[in-house]
Amino acid sequence: MDINTIRTDFPILNQEVNGNPLIYLDTSATSQSPSQVIDAMNDYYKDYNSNVHRGVHTLGTKATDAYEQARMKVRGFINAQRYEEIVFTRGTTSAINLVARSFGEENVSEGDDIVVTEMEHHANIVPWQELAKRKNANLVFIPLEADGTIKLENVEAVMTDRTKIVAITHVSNVLGTINDIGSIAEIAHRHGAYIAVDGAQAVPHMSVDVQAMDVDFYAFSGHKMLGPTGIGVLYGKAELLDKMEPIEYGGDMIDFVDLRESTWTDLPVKFEAGTPMIAEAIGLSAAIDYINQVGADEILRYEQELVKYAYDKMAQIEGMEMYGPKEERAGLITFNLEGVHPHDLATALDTDGVAVRAGHHCAQPLMKFLEVSSTARASFYLYNTKDEIDYFIDSLERTKEFFTHEF
Ligand code: PMP
Repeated sequence: MDINTIRTDFPILNQEVNGNPLIYLDTSATSQSPSQVIDAMNDYYKDYNSNVHRGVHTLGTKATDAYEQARMKVRGFINAQRYEEIVFTRGTTSAINLVARSFGEENVSEGDDIVVTEMEHHANIVPWQELAKRKNANLVFIPLEADGTIKLENVEAVMTDRTKIVAITHVSNVLGTINDIGSIAEIAHRHGAYIAVDGAQAVPHMSVDVQAMDVDFYAFSGHKMLGPTGIGVLYGKAELLDKMEPIEYGGDMIDFVDLRESTWTDLPVKFEAGTPMIAEAIGLSAAIDYINQVGADEILRYEQELVKYAYDKMAQIEGMEMYGPKEERAGLITFNLEGVHPHDLATALDTDGVAVRAGHHCAQPLMKFLEVSSTARASFYLYNTKDEIDYFIDSLERTKEFFTHEF
């Protein structure tokens, strides 16, 4: 992996913010796109912009091929067995809502348990809360350890014969915890339950094999993995998706429409009513090419190096509190610096050109668990460097001095 070549692929990184070189440490919110992704989408608009699955003309056929090839690319990327198991959605949030609305509606009844955790992003908690309310079902939480990890024995302990689904994140966007999804899926299945996984923070950063983990549903977003906004993926086992009702109706997803009754087409288009996100799917496909070219394992290795480097340096700053596990963490660090509000911190860092996120990170229940109202977060990707981390640490130290200096 040649970091200098990689950085030249990302034109956005080559700019100044507030008179300083941009140091982008907010990939967990949205990653940047290489020229290869931007060019692929531009080419579509310049050369073959057309609707898919409809016309027989040349541009329409070319667009349809590119859209369906993107689906094949995603299939290979997460090792799904069949391309029918890849449904394009607007993002992780839409994918999880689709499962909760459609699968949940059919399979969860009054008195059943839906198992989640306190480390979930709002996208993987609110749809289940609403399902629980509609069905009079119970939301059950797997308890977290003090360091923000989950013990498998605690997963086992919350399972009952009324557990219908376990909805859990693969990687926490706040703690950086990497959950052992394969083992959790095994526990869920042994108890007759299904498992739906929020993979928004995992797929961009490590190789994911949905068959090896034996998950029933798996959701992720394009914009966190070098791709564009507005596209995501729901993977679902074909035998489950086949039995599920669509939640949106209209063009493309139908087989036959009569005045009062209609039937649905086959998977996966049954769940893709209307004109889909064509340029975005093409961009996502180019993003997968880029990740494959560098290598998912190499990206993970490099990020682990960066996060360890940053963690050790941050730990030396007095008054620094970092959340989540010390070891085996994903490439992000959520933290608070004593005496500085996270929003002030993020504003001061921005003055130095450093972009970090501050707030509750769409994880208010987790903020309660951590007993804080908000935190700051620095997140890393394949385009960040140790030099950038050094600059970030200097900026943190200057900020601390500024806010805590006694005159
Ligand atoms: N889950 C996790 C763990 C996330 O980090 C995010 C994005 N912050 C989401 C879900 C939601 O993704 P999107 O906004 O792309 O739907």
